[in-house]
Amino acid sequence: MKSVAVLGSTGSIGRSTLDVVANFPEDFRIVALAAGRRIEDLAESVRRFAPEIVSVGREADVPAFRALAPGYRGEVAWGDEGLDACATWPSADTVVAGLVGAVGLSSAHAALVAGKRLALANKETMVVAGEMMARAARESGAEIVPVDSEHSAIHQALRAGVPSEVERIVLTGSGGPFRTRDLASFETISIADALAHPTWKMGPKITVDSATMMNKGLEIIEASFLFDVPADRIGVLIHPQSLVHSMVEFRDGSIVAQMARNDMRFPILYALAYPERPEAPFGRLSLAGQRLEFDEPDLRRYPAIGIAREALREGGAAPAVLNAANEVAVEAFLAGKIRFTRIVPVGVETRSSIGSRPAPRTVAEAREIDAEARRIAGECVERWTGVTA
Ligand code: MG
Repeated sequence: MKSVAVLGSTGSIGRSTLDVVANFPEDFRIVALAAGRRIEDLAESVRRFAPEIVSVGREADVPAFRALAPGYRGEVAWGDEGLDACATWPSADTVVAGLVGAVGLSSAHAALVAGKRLALANKETMVVAGEMMARAARESGAEIVPVDSEHSAIHQALRAGVPSEVERIVLTGSGGPFRTRDLASFETISIADALAHPTWKMGPKITVDSATMMNKGLEIIEASFLFDVPADRIGVLIHPQSLVHSMVEFRDGSIVAQMARNDMRFPILYALAYPERPEAPFGRLSLAGQRLEFDEPDLRRYPAIGIAREALREGGAAPAVLNAANEVAVEAFLAGKIRFTRIVPVGVETRSSIGSRPAPRTVAEAREIDAEARRIAGECVERWTGVTA
């Protein structure tokens, strides 16, 4: 029986995790749940899973939560400290990091320092502080098992050989909703256009990242730190069907790919159960009649891929700066402030005005660089707000 803490329990990854756990009552139990503002959903999960600790977003949410879960006798924490408490909860052996954005860094790092298995869905954590996260895992002996579907696929494919036999990692991406859209019409992309992802149903931030393919760019950086493979040995292929989740090319010319239905419960179950593969009730992928296509990404359509690769090559704090600027830009786009085509330029501008900085070695340093990048990206957004050309 594995004891699981879920950070971001009311979000997309969190809800899928609870569904996986509910399907395997003999294998997994929930001991900690951390949520932000969705107190009612949290109270509902608390009734179902009876965790030992919960954490809510703000101190003001504590009485509201207690009123919604009058029978709950466990601990109630809040804020960043509450997240950290859930991530390091003594009886938890596995922590699902399902928060979105750089806000998840401290708790994910704390889980590694405490020696927990980290089922990592929060890719920004590896982008903002990949070296620091990898070091924490090495020092405590904690494992990071990715939940991001591409990285889960790579983790699975890597089991076919040893590191010195790996030639290259190839990430696949659906190409998002604008794969075939006329480039000349990108200026008029609306918020609704960007939120209509063809194959995956996800939260708004990651859906916009999939439309720009900054998501794939961030995944290149994530893969580099997770698997210790440099930028020039990580490729990207557009694969509209999203059935091959990613692949590893070995030095003998063999490619090992992983396929499954488009359902996050597969990588979540893999991360919880690894190295075992329990029989799962989440359906089967039928390949008969399927057509699989692969194409090189066009960097004019998806400049984010090139920008992210550059940031990874530069190293130091460059990936963290790009990530922070992207979060600000996506938020501004979703608020109707800037055009879709300005999202990637906010990252470029922010990086060039901040310049080269060393990689963060502590959560505090990561927060500092993140805050500075957000401030500069925010200025950039203000300059471009309402600019239509
Ligand atoms: Mg992914």
